[in-house]
Amino acid sequence: MAIVDASSLLKPLYPSLTWQIETAEKNVYLTFDDGPHPEITRDVLDILRSFGFRGTFFTVGQNMERYPEMCERILEEGHVLGNHTYSHLSGYGTSKSDYLADAERWSDRYQTGLFRPPYGRILRKQIHALSTSYRIVMWTLLSWDFQVGLDRDRMLSKMKKGTRPGAIVVFHDSEKASGNMLQMLPRYCSFLKEQGYSSFAIPQV
Ligand SMILES: [Zn+2]
Repeated sequence: MAIVDASSLLKPLYPSLTWQIETAEKNVYLTFDDGPHPEITRDVLDILRSFGFRGTFFTVGQNMERYPEMCERILEEGHVLGNHTYSHLSGYGTSKSDYLADAERWSDRYQTGLFRPPYGRILRKQIHALSTSYRIVMWTLLSWDFQVGLDRDRMLSKMKKGTRPGAIVVFHDSEKASGNMLQMLPRYCSFLKEQGYSSFAIPQV
């Protein structure tokens, strides 16, 4: 299976977005998109807690309305919430005003300084409008956990090779990804620990 990470194409076009965190420390930034989910997010939180790691959860507003107690637990355990729009909207083919309204609807309940565009699809005019209130967070390493038939071993070794100080790593606490993610996450966390890395929540600027 040929897997091409769109970040290699997008990064040179959008250098103002956050693709990694500047640090010389052995810190990585685990991120979890598309939750919260009552069981899957709970499992992720248990895994992170067992390693003493922190993460950033880019949640979908619709899911937050369904499972507000998971959001509370995320925050109580020292993690951070990021805006992933209310209805998981792609920026492509969406007007600036509709996109902003959907992002704004997310923040009815919580305030955050972090935003990640669903599918990584965002247009310049949308970036321009959101960047006054948000740090727009992309990624360094994508786990491809949502991919059916993923070769997990191969992907994990690719992620291990790509791990470096400041890397932003994407997993998904969604039903679609959970089969791969719940297998890969503990193994990746063990690797990080062995290599002397910790995971932190992305700083809000
Ligand atoms: Zn998403």
